[in-house]
Amino acid sequence: MSTTDCIFCAIIAGDIPSERVAETDTVVAFRDISPQAPVHVLVAPKHHVPNVAAAAREIPEVLAEMAIVAQQVADAECGGEFRWIFNTGPSAGQTVFHVHGHVMNGGTLGWNA
Ligand code: 5GP
Repeated sequence: MSTTDCIFCAIIAGDIPSERVAETDTVVAFRDISPQAPVHVLVAPKHHVPNVAAAAREIPEVLAEMAIVAQQVADAECGGEFRWIFNTGPSAGQTVFHVHGHVMNGGTLGWNA
């Protein structure tokens, strides 16, 4: 399922360009357009759900696949170690309401990096 007003659905469909670093039948990983760390990749399901709790309820097997893809990205880009962030809600910094995990590393991350 995709929604017409979702920027990540458009990226996943290929209607908006992105630098894809991994893809499976159900998951896409692409570089953040505004990286906050040397490695900053977004891992998202192809199916549109708004946040990580909705993903756990509605597509748990895809959420597990996202974790595997996140690890594969980190294995390829930063020695297998990474921070994985899911923002939920505007007050937590969520700006795109299509669930995505931020895979971040590439140096020594402080808690506020
Ligand atoms: P959020 O704030 O929802 O947790 O994360 C959304 C992320 O998507 C942000 O880090 C932002 O830089 C990234 N982003 C927003 N628009 C685009 C885009 O068009 N392309 C890519 N590659 N990343 C985007």
